[in-house]
Amino acid sequence: MKYFNIAIDGPAGAGKSTIARKIAEKLGFIYVDTGAMYRAMALYFLRNHINADHQEEIEASCQNVNITIEYRNNEQCVILNGENVNGLIRTEEVGKMASATSIYRSVRLKLVQLQQELAKKSNVVMDGRDIGTYVLPDADLKIYLTASAKTRAMRRWLELKDKGVQADIEEIEKDIIERDHRDMTREFAPLKQAEDAIYLDSSDLTIEEVVDKIMEYYYDKVKVSN
Ligand code: C5P
Repeated sequence: MKYFNIAIDGPAGAGKSTIARKIAEKLGFIYVDTGAMYRAMALYFLRNHINADHQEEIEASCQNVNITIEYRNNEQCVILNGENVNGLIRTEEVGKMASATSIYRSVRLKLVQLQQELAKKSNVVMDGRDIGTYVLPDADLKIYLTASAKTRAMRRWLELKDKGVQADIEEIEKDIIERDHRDMTREFAPLKQAEDAIYLDSSDLTIEEVVDKIMEYYYDKVKVSN
């Protein structure tokens, strides 16, 4: 059986995970958050005091990392060497390390295989940076979701404020621009819009408006293929 795969790529803070989760819920698909997998690898490197600049050490230690995915109450749990690390990977420190170490080919290859296997056995909405271009080049629907760096910084700032964390919005924007640059210029599987992806700028749209648009694209695709 051929499953329906939706790929949502784009830079940090464009709203990919919120939107992908909602679409998956509406369609009864599995949501695959690939960023969480890079974060789990990053957590391993941090715990083992491996420097992000030391390529050889990173490549060698990839052999000691086993990452799998389980679903509990419809939530993706990332299992790092047998431990559910969901509650430990959403920090700034882990996010920075994930951004710095996801440039390495051996880190990426370790996770790409797992991502492809998940898409082969279920209908999925998968979000990331290279899903439409590299992981699932034959995905049935591809979305490139973006927003201006200013908007993305503002969203992140509001999120932190909600959690009672004070942050400097200009610092956040600088960090976002740096991460975009690293994701877009890395040699292996960089972030870019796939030729057959639909470009969607969420700067002036609500979450619901973005979800509605993607649902329309989905129904158009299903109509055409039937
Ligand atoms: O999306 P999230 O912020 O959780 O991803 C963490 C980091 O993992 C990103 O900054 C990005 O560099 C990397 N990543 C990637 N490819 C993916 C998903 C995430 O390189 N498919």
